[in-house]
Amino acid sequence: MRILVVEDEPRLLRNLGRALREEGYAVDSADNGPDGLAKALDVAYDAVVLDVMLPGMDGWHVLRRLREKRGTAVLMLTARDAVDDRVRGLDAGADDHLGKPFELPELLARLRALVRRAHGRATSEIALGDIVLDRRARRVLQAGQPVALTAREFAILEYLALHRGEVVTRTELYEHLFDESENTLSNLLDVHVFALRRKLGADLITTRRGQGYCIEAAASAAEASPVG
Ligand code: CA
Repeated sequence: MRILVVEDEPRLLRNLGRALREEGYAVDSADNGPDGLAKALDVAYDAVVLDVMLPGMDGWHVLRRLREKRGTAVLMLTARDAVDDRVRGLDAGADDHLGKPFELPELLARLRALVRRAHGRATSEIALGDIVLDRRARRVLQAGQPVALTAREFAILEYLALHRGEVVTRTELYEHLFDESENTLSNLLDVHVFALRRKLGADLITTRRGQGYCIEAAASAAEASPVG
């Protein structure tokens, strides 16, 4: 999942970026309103964290302009206890808001909920045959046994599982899973998919040549099968 953070306080921007990456998100950032708007219009982010007080263009303006083009989930960072701000944010089309200063675990929990809703899944666990993704713990079990995945492998599996039964294009995967700062080596999708197949079984992810990757809908209904 790829998140945009629009925040002009350097330390907060840095800390948020680090915390979100530790949670397995790809993270882009902007430290002013116009840059934030340009990025939010350009990329189909899974969520945007948007500060209200920003240089160049305030968060309300960014949100209004964004809503003319995209329905991206937006979490507004407002002044603490400013009821007017919260009402205004919801009226303007924000999906959630959090007063500053906030506790990081609360922001992370709200983001997880936003991203889940954006992808139409209310639960934090996804079952694919005998494989269970625990999205909160970012852990995978196969036939009850933990399978060690890298953060990137988990992110790819999670995205495909959320869209199971659909072909997900390589472009879509790149857009949702890799951030603006990453070099091309970390972007080698095929290598990650190869590793996932090696760890979880060759049949889990199918390649649709010229189209992308797919976890078949039947995978979620399949009987648990022996590991091996
Ligand atoms: Ca600010």
